[in-house]
Amino acid sequence: MKGKKKSVCIVCGKPKKGIAVHEDHVIFAIRWFKTNITKNANNNGLVVCKECYPKYAKERRRYTSRLSLYIGIGVIFAILLIISTPSLGSALAAIGVLVFLYALSLLSYIPRLELEAQQLTGTGEAVSAPAQRRRKLQNNK
Ligand SMILES: [Zn+2]
Repeated sequence: MKGKKKSVCIVCGKPKKGIAVHEDHVIFAIRWFKTNITKNANNNGLVVCKECYPKYAKERRRYTSRLSLYIGIGVIFAILLIISTPSLGSALAAIGVLVFLYALSLLSYIPRLELEAQQLTGTGEAVSAPAQRRRKLQNNK
């Protein structure tokens, strides 16, 4: 699937080589939308170039912390709503709130990268990326 496809940096928008962006459900949905609805899919490979990496890392951190904040607020709100008035209506409203907050977080969506950052040299982020992943794995348990 990779290879001769043109790759474009998601930060500066220039056709450049860089670290591949992980194609997750959000990217898949955007591609699907562009292919089937707006018909302007270009199917470029998405990357982050070396020059833009520090900026990307900052944006990505901001995005993930915002996402966990939104989810936190959404979950607390949903629990309070269901506890205060236990009914089907409030359960649906709670789901609605969660979906809304998730959609809100997608407005500033920053995808993760296919490769770990340590393959880049000369950035402070390179060291912390595997540690972050380990922490994440532990939290999931
Ligand atoms: Zn770039």
